[in-house]
Amino acid sequence: MEQDFPSSPLGLYIHIPFCLSRCGYCSFFNVPYRNSVLNEYVDYLEKEKSLYLNKLNRPLATIYFGGGTPSLLNAEQIRHILSGLNMLPEAEITLEINPLQITPTYLQALKTTPINRLSIGLQSMNQEELNFLERHHKPEQIQEKIALCRHFGYENLSLDLIYGLPYSTLQTLQRTVEKYLELKPEHISCYLLTLDADCKLAKEKNNLPNEEIQAEQYAFLCNYLEKEGYIHYEISNFALPGYTSQHNLRYWHNDDYLALGASSAGWISPIRYQNSADLNLYYQSIEKGETFPQKEELSQQRIIQDYLMMGLRLKEGIGLDEFYNRFQVKLTELYGERILKLQQIGMLNLTEHNLELTEKALFVSNSVIGDLIL
Ligand code: SF4
Repeated sequence: MEQDFPSSPLGLYIHIPFCLSRCGYCSFFNVPYRNSVLNEYVDYLEKEKSLYLNKLNRPLATIYFGGGTPSLLNAEQIRHILSGLNMLPEAEITLEINPLQITPTYLQALKTTPINRLSIGLQSMNQEELNFLERHHKPEQIQEKIALCRHFGYENLSLDLIYGLPYSTLQTLQRTVEKYLELKPEHISCYLLTLDADCKLAKEKNNLPNEEIQAEQYAFLCNYLEKEGYIHYEISNFALPGYTSQHNLRYWHNDDYLALGASSAGWISPIRYQNSADLNLYYQSIEKGETFPQKEELSQQRIIQDYLMMGLRLKEGIGLDEFYNRFQVKLTELYGERILKLQQIGMLNLTEHNLELTEKALFVSNSVIGDLIL
């Protein structure tokens, strides 16, 4: 098992669960925004930070503000949350931002913080699709907003895109992708729309394109973006050379990361832990000085399963030598028979150095990885 040297770099995830309104497709934990509630939350985040100071003295290679809508934080709050942290000079520090909040005033203030990457919740460039998703920004304003980000020196922008929308076709998707490309983002994350039973739009489930069309849309995105110079480095993620998401790579490589904020989950090998998604319980846990709530110490077998589950999401797959160095056992010794079966049906490639999903396995990755490890 990898030795967790106290000096090895760490990632930090900070969850901000507040949103201005609830998007129709959302089934994530989130809380209606009120300024006073956000202020109280930030106070608790700071207290939580101080509980982990010994861990946070490890150099931070990446920090990610996710949500919810973290761009509801003002610059002063971001500076406070980050103050006293031991960040590497080249640390990637990402803020998820709602396009509505990309304004000159906000970006100017943001420049007083160390945020150096923006992940923009754009989702689509089609007005009807944005209406359906209950996202309130306007496609015609996006070009100007991206120009503002550039003007304020943000050179690492990621755009989210949702496909598999009701009534969408390859033509509508192509129009959206073309408009995305005009914005020249460094990174694009593409997500398939899923409507869980507890979201407002659950009743629209029957209007979603069938699985065959969803798979076609996915294949279209992969081909189109690769043709335009984006590296398809993870199932859902595409980046221009040099702009892969360093924070998310920590998840896919199973590297340590600490997580702060209600409902967030962290991994400091071999411990997984999870903060409560109930604000009051989260606050109580901090008042008690608790660290690593709901912690679980994973067995070697679980760590290996998680490593495969996350690592196979990467196009480069799992390095066989890297696996051996981490776990002192050969991957083929543990999973040889299952790998062979999945190779025979064209879902896995085993080369001299790597184990990776085949192209056709990417869209059905969950079931293929499940067949391998469960
Ligand atoms: S999708 Fe994102 S922005 Fe919309 S309600 Fe959910 S967490 Fe908030």
